[in-house]
Amino acid sequence: MDGNPVGWFGDHPPTDERGFLDFAASLPVPDLYRAIKDAEPVSPIASHRFPSNRRRHYERMRRFPEGLVVLGDALCSFNPIYGQGMTTGALGVRLLDDSLRERRQNGGSARVGGFSRGFQRKIARVIDSPWLLTTTEDFRSPRTVGRRAWSSALLGWYTARIHRLTWSDRFTARRFLEVMHLTVRPTALFHPYIVFRALTQGSHVDQAARK
Ligand SMILES: Cc1cc2nc3c(=O)[nH]c(=O)nc-3n(C[C@H](O)[C@H](O)[C@H](O)COP(=O)(O)OP(=O)(O)OC[C@H]3O[C@@H](n4cnc5c(N)ncnc54)[C@H](O)[C@@H]3O)c2cc1C
Repeated sequence: MDGNPVGWFGDHPPTDERGFLDFAASLPVPDLYRAIKDAEPVSPIASHRFPSNRRRHYERMRRFPEGLVVLGDALCSFNPIYGQGMTTGALGVRLLDDSLRERRQNGGSARVGGFSRGFQRKIARVIDSPWLLTTTEDFRSPRTVGRRAWSSALLGWYTARIHRLTWSDRFTARRFLEVMHLTVRPTALFHPYIVFRALTQGSHVDQAARK
């Protein structure tokens, strides 16, 4: 578990108040527990389970109906704990708006001439980044099933170090949040400063953050 009230593979926060607080206290980073331990709940605790990330590759279909486009959760549904679904949906809507404007400016219609297939190809590229982010996180557990990219183990190892660094390093924490909020590309996490700190101080940071 990292610093969120979430869990994987049965390691879930209980829905009774005492159990929830105990779970928060067991997290490696104490901030969440400190923030809620004396707070008064405004509602009962609710639990939500999510079975899997799911991505549909409509861009690989040989034939695709004109006048139809697929975006949002219908195209790609992410584990909600990473908070990517609405942002990715909004990016898809913006791409659709841009594509329709471009088509209109060129005097064409969205119902003919491969518009829909072209759009599915373009939106697939938009989804690549958030998909990489969420699946890299989920594949850090050996119990996660699915097709792992050859780079999955290496990326998982690197992002585990980045996570630990975010507990104490402001620059890395900000960059990490920018990447997770899709305002900059994941390659921003390979900034020379972050690579250096992640490779040289990852384990020390881990111990320091637990004190
Ligand atoms: C517990 C939870 C927490 C989340 N937290 C976050 C978060 O913090 N940040 C974030 O970015 N994302 C989060 N998400 C994901 C986000 O909610 C979704 O990615 C987003 O709502 C997808 O938008 P959408 O329009 O594609 O689909 P939806 O929001 O599911 O909208 C689809 C709509 O279509 C309607 N519909 C379905 N079938 C039919 C039909 N046959 N006829 C007519 N209408 C129909 C449905 O009723 C629904 O209103 C979370 C999701 C969950 C489940």
